[in-house]
Amino acid sequence: MYEKYWQQMGEKTTVVIPGWKFVSYFSDKRKLCWFLEPEFASSIIRLHKLVGNAVTENRHIVVGTGSTQLFQAVLYALCPPNASEPIDVLCAAPFYSSYPLITEFLKSGLYKWGGDAHKFRLNKPYIELVTSPNNPDGLSRQAVVNQDQGILIHDLAYYWPQYTPISYTADYDIMLFTVSKTTGHAGTRLGWALVKDEEIAKKMTEFIMLSTIGVSKESQLRAAKILKVVSDTHEYHAKHDFKECDSFFEHSYDLMAKRWKQLRNAVNQNKMFSLPHFPSAKCKFSGNTFASQPAFAWLKCEGKIDDCESFLREHKVLTRSGKHFGDSTKYVRISVLPRDEEFQQFTDRLSSITLMPPIVI
Ligand code: PMP
Repeated sequence: MYEKYWQQMGEKTTVVIPGWKFVSYFSDKRKLCWFLEPEFASSIIRLHKLVGNAVTENRHIVVGTGSTQLFQAVLYALCPPNASEPIDVLCAAPFYSSYPLITEFLKSGLYKWGGDAHKFRLNKPYIELVTSPNNPDGLSRQAVVNQDQGILIHDLAYYWPQYTPISYTADYDIMLFTVSKTTGHAGTRLGWALVKDEEIAKKMTEFIMLSTIGVSKESQLRAAKILKVVSDTHEYHAKHDFKECDSFFEHSYDLMAKRWKQLRNAVNQNKMFSLPHFPSAKCKFSGNTFASQPAFAWLKCEGKIDDCESFLREHKVLTRSGKHFGDSTKYVRISVLPRDEEFQQFTDRLSSITLMPPIVI
C-alpha cells in the first residue's frame, strides 16, 4: 500500500553507501547498544517527538532485526536464568499468531507459552504482551492480568496515526516498534525497543550480540533516511522542498480511511459478515477525531458458517483463520495493506458473495 507514496518521493529517500563504509561490527563502542547507528537513533527520537506516540526521554534504544528479534531478546532479558521452571508468556486472545510460535519454537528452559491472558489464574511470575492497537482485531488494549508478579511488554507496532488516534503518549517500561508498520518497509527488517531499565536493555543487547552480533548498518542507514523524510514531510510541508508531496501520515491516513470505507461497504452488501466497531477519539497528532482504521480486518462469518477461512477460500479469498490467533474459526484476519489492485479485487469478491454455492464450470 505504501509503495506508491515512496515512488512519488523519488530520489528523496535514495541512500548511496560506498564500499568502505560500515565495515566494522561496531557503531559506537561507548554506547550500551553498541551496534545502534546514531543516525537511526536520532531519526527514531525525532519521529516519536513529532507524533507524540511514545516517550523517548530516559529510555535506552535497542535496535533489532525486526521487532521479531526484539521480542525474543526481551523474553531472554526478562527471565531469571536460574528459575526453577520456565515463566509463562501470555497475551489476551485474539493475539498475534507469531507470539506462541516464537515463544515455543526453541523449547526454551527460560519461558513457555502460557496462552490467553484472560484465562491465567496462577499466582506466580508471568510476562504479558500488550499489543495496542491489537493484531488481529485492531482494538486498543491494556494489560488484563494485573497481578504484582507480572512484567509487561507493550508491542506498539501499530500505534501510528494512520491506524489509530494518538490519544496518549505511551510511557511504558518496554515498548516495541517496527519500521514494517510505521512506513511499510517490512523488508528492511528493522525494529526498535524503548527500554526504561538499563539492565534489561543490556541483556537485550547481549541477546542480539549472541544471535547476530548486531544489526545491519546498511538497513539502519536506509531506515534512518526514510524516517527522516517522514518527519521532514510534516515539519517542512509548507516549505518548497516537499510541496509537491503529501505528508506521510496524512497520505496514509487518507488511504486507510478510504480502504475501511470500501471494506465496510462490501461487508454491508449482505448480512453474512461483520467487522469490529471502534470508538472515535481525538488524535493529538492530526487534530482529527476518528475511529481506528487498522492494518488488519478481523472479519466474522455470521450465521451458520463455522469455518470462515474455508468458506472464503471457496470464493477465492485467502485469509488466516481465527484459530491461529487463539480464537474461533468463525473469524478470519485479512490484511488491509496490499497494493490497490489486490485490495479492490478482494472487496469486489467479498461483496459478490451470496449464500448460493459458487458455480464451477
Ligand atoms: N508485532 C506485531 C503485533 C506484528 O503484527 C508484527 C508483524 N506482523 C510484528 C510484531 C513483527 O514485525 P517485524 O516485521 O518488525 O518483525
